[in-house]
Amino acid sequence: MAEKRDYYEVLGLSKSASDDEIKKAYRKLSKKYHPDINKAPDAEEKFKEITEAYEVLSDPQKRAAYDQYGHAATNPNFGGGSGGFGGFDTGGFNSGFGGFEDIFESFFGGASRSADPTAPRPGADLEYRLDLSFDEAVFGAEKEIKYKREGVCETCHGSGAKPGTEPVTCHKCHGSGYVNIERQTPLGRVMTRQVCDVCHGTGKEIKEPCPTCHGSGHVKETHKVKVKVPAGVETGQQMRLQGQGEAGTNGGPYGDLYVIFKVAPSDIFEREGANIYYTLPLSFVQAALGDEVDVPTVSGKVKLKIPAGTQTGTKFRLRGKGAPKLNVKNTRGDQQVTVNIVTPRNLSDEQKKALREFANAGGDKVQEQNGEGFFNKMKDAFSGKK
Ligand SMILES: [Zn+2]
Ligand SMILES: [Zn+2]
Repeated sequence: MAEKRDYYEVLGLSKSASDDEIKKAYRKLSKKYHPDINKAPDAEEKFKEITEAYEVLSDPQKRAAYDQYGHAATNPNFGGGSGGFGGFDTGGFNSGFGGFEDIFESFFGGASRSADPTAPRPGADLEYRLDLSFDEAVFGAEKEIKYKREGVCETCHGSGAKPGTEPVTCHKCHGSGYVNIERQTPLGRVMTRQVCDVCHGTGKEIKEPCPTCHGSGHVKETHKVKVKVPAGVETGQQMRLQGQGEAGTNGGPYGDLYVIFKVAPSDIFEREGANIYYTLPLSFVQAALGDEVDVPTVSGKVKLKIPAGTQTGTKFRLRGKGAPKLNVKNTRGDQQVTVNIVTPRNLSDEQKKALREFANAGGDKVQEQNGEGFFNKMKDAFSGKK
């Protein structure tokens, strides 16, 4: 068997990590490596490793046993446990219990500080990367997304019991999830308390497992959700959809889904928050004499007056023609227009003549160069790349 990594190391924590730190580390890592999100070949393996580490370290009893005995105390293969993906919710760890009861008992000597194992626990949160076009991000959109998650089994409604039957209160622990055992030790008879090995702490016993989920109460399902993308979102921003994560345990609620937006760039515009940036090409004649031109904006063309004598790099602000401000009703940013004077190429003889006259009229002496051939090719190469 491959060498197992230290659980603290797996979660990137020190041995003295608090419950809160353990929870945070798990949340962060499980999101990162969830196989629905992370398509790297080792993601599922990593996810399992993280989940297993969390299962142990988040439970005070299991953690104490692990601190004392290392992996020997927690190896899910130890008692013939299933382990597999999804097993974390349903007791992949617990099924290893039979093997180390003795260790457990001697260590705890009956004192238990563990949380109630029968308490409902919410399911894991998931992440979904939602690709948006430039326009969808600017104006908002309604998208339907599809992903795999652990859902509540519809056959048994999460009970894990075959339809027509019901989980019954565990006969051994009477529903508490724990059993007290009297034991003869060298120090005399002691009562010890341990997680019930019949129900693995759930307090319920399933006599006839549901044929669909085999008693787990969960099934892997393809889940569809409609996402209302608000106008004005940007790459990296996220939206929490409550209850769209994975099914909880012991009747606990679903986790949440975090939708993270990724916005495609535009061919025409740059965008920063609610402000849009556009480069306006003008001929030097338009710039010199002034003009009125159509400028594209995200919501159609607008007229822009170019004053005579406009220089390249001049900026105009089209107020309220930017993107909607996220979460601010009826408020939009601006569009900034930057003028770029484009020097004409491939002039006709008539144009050249007019330009020479233009230069003469201004008293300029121009030493004309032949721009054909090499330079034009260079320029074409550059402009073609843009
Ligand atoms: Zn079922
Ligand atoms: Zn029980």
